Amino acid sequence: MWPSRPAKLKKIFFMFSTILINIIFGCILNEILNIRVRNMALYKDSSILKYVPNWEGWDKIYKPSDIVPHSGIYKCTGCKKEITSNKGDRFPPQNHHQHGSLLSSIQWKIIIYTDTDGSYSY
Ligand SMILES: [Zn+2]
Repeated sequence: MWPSRPAKLKKIFFMFSTILINIIFGCILNEILNIRVRNMALYKDSSILKYVPNWEGWDKIYKPSDIVPHSGIYKCTGCKKEITSNKGDRFPPQNHHQHGSLLSSIQWKIIIYTDTDGSYSY
């Protein structure tokens, strides 16, 4: 026996809402996993890095297309994506990568200061 028309509609609505909920939770999970997977730069030899916690430049934030003040590795504060940028160049434009609705806007923060001209004397 065929289900009645309201029962059919109820079944279709249930299937549609289940798919929608799966899509929504999938997107949320994807954003969470992206944050956890890409969360730090890697290195092998710690003797080539120097711990300098008191430099004021660590806390400065830059927007897309700002001029890069120091060569180094920068991390997006929203999604944790990392880039290398050279002093005097511009940070990638706004369309460099996309953030989902749960993340803040693209902002760059230096995580590794590189001594590209050999003048940094720590
Ligand atoms: Zn980002």
